[in-house]
Amino acid sequence: MTTSNWRLTLIIGGMLIATVSIWFLASQSFRPTQITADSREAPLIQGPIPEFKEQHLPVLPIEVPNDEVTKQQELPNLMTPLAAEAKAAFTPTATPITTVKDSVYKLAPITAQISIPVLNYHSVTVQPGNTAAITPAKLEEQMQYLADQGYKTLTLKEFIDIWEGGEKPTAKVILLTFDDGYKDNYTAALPILAKHNFRATLFVSPGMVEDGYFLNWDEIKEMHKGGWDIQPHGMTHPNLTKLNSEKQTFEITEARRQIEEELGITADVYCYPYGERNQTTLHILKEHGFRYAFTIEQGMAKPDQNPLLIRRLFVNGEAGLSSFKSLLK
Ligand SMILES: [Zn+2]
Repeated sequence: MTTSNWRLTLIIGGMLIATVSIWFLASQSFRPTQITADSREAPLIQGPIPEFKEQHLPVLPIEVPNDEVTKQQELPNLMTPLAAEAKAAFTPTATPITTVKDSVYKLAPITAQISIPVLNYHSVTVQPGNTAAITPAKLEEQMQYLADQGYKTLTLKEFIDIWEGGEKPTAKVILLTFDDGYKDNYTAALPILAKHNFRATLFVSPGMVEDGYFLNWDEIKEMHKGGWDIQPHGMTHPNLTKLNSEKQTFEITEARRQIEEELGITADVYCYPYGERNQTTLHILKEHGFRYAFTIEQGMAKPDQNPLLIRRLFVNGEAGLSSFKSLLK
């Protein structure tokens, strides 16, 4: 072997040793780290939790078998609205609160400081155990408290003027609403409110008038003359989410038509029976020019809410005056 051949052999040998060494070191540094107890407990997602994005689903009418709808309409349970709405008022709704961006209406100026309590009453009678029924004595006590505190009760028009005007009212204001149209609203609530010259809004289901348990048209007309606003609450107080688009439309528009015809007013402010609605409901309301709608979601009414999803404060008829006071804070 010549000297140059020895040199070549040494160079090639050296290169082989270097390559093997580099491979060994590299394989050691890329070996997966052993899983320790700490690494197993580390959160799967680090950093901020992804923001919930509201889904904008297409309007899909919910179909129900015709016989079910017919049965429901033929056999209305007259006591159902009261108890069910009281329960619903304390049950979180599955329907997401649509943001104000979804509204086709002119947006009110951002007026975070405007916050109007909208009280939600039902029956005014003695019915122990029913949170949706308030005794006349308790209602009187609450109205006296509002009067003593200097509250001004709003008409719907005044409420809407504040909502759209975007100016904070100088006085304490409140909107009183009564759902369903119980006869005791005429016999008990009307005189109590009249004593203080208070205004209120009645959401009535015209399909239930004239049956003895609910108000009749003469009483409703007298309440209207006494300063009450009268607006629709569905024809037969249905859970709209169980009806198809056509039946929802009838419930909403026929209630409005009858109120407008009987009273000669515009009845374009809706109140959802049981607080229930779906995307079809909102679509129908917009299509038929309803400007505002009230839910049973708890909270102050604020102009940055969707005007078709205004919040109210359920008045628990079983609770004392101190909880009534805390509702208004
Ligand atoms: Zn109701």
